[in-house]
Amino acid sequence: MSDSASQPEFGHEDLWRQIFHDGHPVLTGKQRRYRMLPGMPRCKMCFAPFGGFGGWIARRIGLRPSFRNPRFCNACDKFIEQFPGGAEVPVSILFCDLRGSVALGMSWVARAMPRRLRGCAIWWWRRCGSMTVSCWNFRAIP
Ligand SMILES: [Zn+2]
Repeated sequence: MSDSASQPEFGHEDLWRQIFHDGHPVLTGKQRRYRMLPGMPRCKMCFAPFGGFGGWIARRIGLRPSFRNPRFCNACDKFIEQFPGGAEVPVSILFCDLRGSVALGMSWVARAMPRRLRGCAIWWWRRCGSMTVSCWNFRAIP
């Protein structure tokens, strides 16, 4: 299952498996409390709000976007830095096709298609969180 030869060993796999798969009691408690505060975007790990009124409250208790990765708060980033590693956990992945993308690809200039798709992906990522999108270069069909 695990390709230990290609993965660096950090020694925190059980901790990260508990966080990603089982739910760590401290983290789930923070997520439950921070979820009640309004504001977007949020820390992808503890759900602390960065914007709006909830972000104002979060800043009062010392939580703000991390300088290293603004998708996480400074507290979660510090935790990630202290406990490097990860875990193999089962995930669900959704692949999707854009309705009408062939027609759009034929009507737009070929070079504009990846740029526009990337713009849509960035819009989605800012609102919904983690996402990996690959944009290929399209060729115009004569
Ligand atoms: Zn956080």
